[in-house]
Parts: sequence; structure tokens; C-alpha cells
Amino acid sequence: MKKSTIWLLTIVMALTLLGLLFVQIMYMENMAQMRNQQFGEVVSRSMYGVSTSLERDETLHFLNQDISSVEASLGGPITGRFDTPITPADTLMLNDEKIKRADGGSNMQDFSETYQTRQEILRGQYIYQKGLLNEVILNILSQSSDRPIMERADSVAVRHYLSEELESNGLELPFEFAVTNRNEQVVYKTAGYDEAKGGAYRQFLFPNDPVSKRHTLNVKFPTKHKYILSSVKFMIPSFAFTLILIVVFLYTITLVFRQKRLSDIKNEFINNMTHEFKTPISTISLAAQMLNDDSVTKSSSMLKRVSGIIGDETKRLRFQVEKVLQMSMFDEKSATIRLQDVDVNSVISTVANTYKIKVEKFGGSIAYHLDAEDSVINVDEMHFTNVIYNLLDNAIKYRREEVEPELSISTRNVGEEQLEITIADNGIGIKKDDQKRIFEKFYRVSTGNRHDVKGFGLGLAYVYKMITLFHGSIRVESEPGKGSRFVITLPLYK
Ligand code: ADP
Repeated sequence: MKKSTIWLLTIVMALTLLGLLFVQIMYMENMAQMRNQQFGEVVSRSMYGVSTSLERDETLHFLNQDISSVEASLGGPITGRFDTPITPADTLMLNDEKIKRADGGSNMQDFSETYQTRQEILRGQYIYQKGLLNEVILNILSQSSDRPIMERADSVAVRHYLSEELESNGLELPFEFAVTNRNEQVVYKTAGYDEAKGGAYRQFLFPNDPVSKRHTLNVKFPTKHKYILSSVKFMIPSFAFTLILIVVFLYTITLVFRQKRLSDIKNEFINNMTHEFKTPISTISLAAQMLNDDSVTKSSSMLKRVSGIIGDETKRLRFQVEKVLQMSMFDEKSATIRLQDVDVNSVISTVANTYKIKVEKFGGSIAYHLDAEDSVINVDEMHFTNVIYNLLDNAIKYRREEVEPELSISTRNVGEEQLEITIADNGIGIKKDDQKRIFEKFYRVSTGNRHDVKGFGLGLAYVYKMITLFHGSIRVESEPGKGSRFVITLPLYK
């Protein structure tokens, strides 16, 4: 697949997912807004109900007051006070009593007479009651606003009415309230009411009071946010699914890009390899031709030279083949390794001897201090040798131009269980930030190209993978411009 196609797919997918997320957020926001609005409406309706109930209470208060004074004038209690509703039966009972009183307690007279008397009494009573009500209304208008608000709307009644109204409107949430005067000063409040926090619902108590004496009921719901959020809870799974989708998508895209990079690198690697193979093969075949050619005199020095060339070129070929093997290691799920007892000291001295010539070509030197007394470990010899080769290779690749390369390899025992191998150089060094990443697959330090050094960023990843497979660990200590030390720790074979 072309890189541009992958990018196009990525952008389309990313936009689609973002769009989906955006729509979900908008939907959730709208839902929350609607719920908030509904909540507000229910609360306003309930508070209006409270205000009406308080007004009705006040009317009853004045009515009772007036009735008391009437009772005083009549010299006895009237049944059916106004705190309980007056039924038609009550009215009749009241009338009958008055009839009796008007009759002076005498026996029944004829029906028409009784009916007439009853009508007259009712009329009289109607006029009287109307007067009474007028008086009550006048009292309410003139005196009610003078009564202290604590009496007119005491907190127990307000709480009672409020919870009753809210409950009948289907809202059973804890609430706190306060009554404030016209200047927004709190007259009284419940314990949990916090004026500093906003978000109170407000309703005038006794809206017919003169403006200067008006009081306001303020109600807050401490758990309102939770309540609103709970209504959009059902959206959470859909969010979770979208997020999972985004994570999976990102992971897939990373994988696709990695695969693409790997396949590009493989192609480049194979191209390089075939090129690298050609030279030793042609040199060896040339040497073979020379040996076959009868016209060429085969002196012992000449034979030695040709066999030396063949030996060198075979080594080169082997090295290339091993590189191909290293490359293939990354594709396998679990690398096939053959563990055996390996004496690190002897492997290192062989490798260092081979490397000596290479280092000397650059005018440098390689020193080794094989101090480990116990140096047998259980590893795959071929891969372990590659690890040492890779580290030495890098030490030369990333050398400083201005100084001669000085390499050193040392081994020592750490405690009774471990062996430490240190490979140090005086090369360009590695910055702190890069040190954390050089063991990652394909990671290359940008200045790594300073010497026009070719590489795929796989060498150290391979080293890391192998050392981990051998149950060991590797770390780097380095100072840019001074050099680097790679320290490998491996368990000793017991
Ligand atoms: P490659 O050499 O192919 O780039 P490696 O995995 O071997 O990949 O190394 C990763 C990076 O670590 C290199 O690009 C280089 O910048 C840095 N590095 C590795 N070894 C050394 C060293 N001895 N001195 C300085 N830099 C090093």
C-alpha cells in the first residue's frame, strides 16, 4: 500500500471518529440542558405552590381571628373552624341552631313558616358572612404585611410545603432554603444553605405585599448536578465504545505504519545485502580462478595470500549472513535460541582479536580486561557473539573523527550470581534523552548520520532482545563528546 493511501485512510477515519465524538458530546450537552430546564420548571411550579399555600394559611389565620371575635360576641364556639373545611352539613347544623335560637327552643310550627324563617336567616347570615369576609380581606390587606415574616412563613411550614410540592411533582431531592428581604439580607436560613454559592431558585413570598416589604424564598439543591448527570449516564457506554474505537484505531494505524516501515527497511536491506554479497563472492571466485589457473605459479607465499583473502572474504560473508539472521529474528514470535554453556572470557578474547585489525585501521586500539573468575554463562553462542560484535561495531561507527578510537572490553563478577560485561568507547556519546530510546526498534539518533553511517536502528534493539532472552539486562552510560559505556549483566551458569 502506498504511504499516501495510508495517510488518506488515517485522516478520513480520524475525522469520522472525531465527528462521532463531537455529535455524542453535543447530544449529551443538549440532554443535560433539557433536563436542567425541566428541573427549573418543576422547582418554580413547586415554589409557586408553596407561596400559594402560605397565602392560604394567612387567610385562614385572619378568618380564625375574626371568628374568634364573633364567637366572643355570640357567647359560644361555632362548630367548623376554618382550619377544617366547612361542609354543607356544618352550615345546616349552624342554621338549625340559629333557628332553634330564633324560635326560642319551641316545638315545630307549620312548614311554610319554618321555610320562610330559614330563608331569612340564611340571607341574614349571608350578608353577615360577606361582611365578615370583607373585613378579613381588609385585614389581610392592611395588616398582613406588618406581621413578622417568621410568623407568616415559618421554616417548618415552608419545609413541609416545599417537600410536599416537590414530591407531588416527582422531585425527591434534598434541598436547603433561605428567606431574604428586599435588600437580599437573609432573614432566616436552613443549616446547609450557603449564600456564597450561586444557583438558587427564587420565588416571591406573598407577592401582593407592598414592594418595600416583599420577601423572597431561595431554594438550593446541593445534589442537583448529580441528578442532572444521572440522566445522561446512559451515554457513558457509548462514550466508552467510541474511546475504545479510537484506541484500537490508533493502535492499528501505528501497526500499519510500523509494518510499512519494516517492509521498506527490509527491501532496502535486501538491496544492500545483495550488493554486499556480490563483492566477497566475486573476490572468492577470483581467488578460485587463480588457484585453478595453471599459468599462475603457486608459490607458498602466494598460496598463503590467496587463502588469507578467501578466509577474510568468507568471514565477511558470514557476518552478512548473520545480519540477515538478526533481521529475521524480529519477525519470529519467539526467537529460536539454542542455549549452551559459553565461556564469556574466551568468546570476548576471540572477538577482540578479530576486531583488533579493524580498530587499528582507524589508528585506534582495543584493550580487554577479563577479570571475571567465574565466566561461564548459559546463552546461545552465535547470538551472544553477535551482541558483542554489534556493540563493538557501533563503537567504531560512532567514533569521533578528531581522536583515535579507544575501545575497551572488560568482564567481572558481581556477587556470586552475576557476570558484568562492559564495552566502552571514546566516541561521540549519546544525549540523555536518546539514551532512553536507543534500544527501541528503528530508533536512530539524528546525529548518528554524522559520519554518513548507514544503519537501520535495529542493532541495539537486537542486542536488547537477546540479552533479555538470556535473562540479563543492559544499560548505557554516556556523555556526549566523551564516549559511551554499555554494561551487560548476565546470570552465571550454576
Ligand atoms: P544503527 O547503528 O543502525 O543506527 P543501533 O540500534 O545500533 O542502530 O543504534 C541506535 C542509535 O544509537 C544509533 O543511531 C546511534 O546514534 C546510537 N549509538 C549506538 N551505539 C553508540 C555508541 N557506541 N556511541 C554513540 N552512539 C551510539
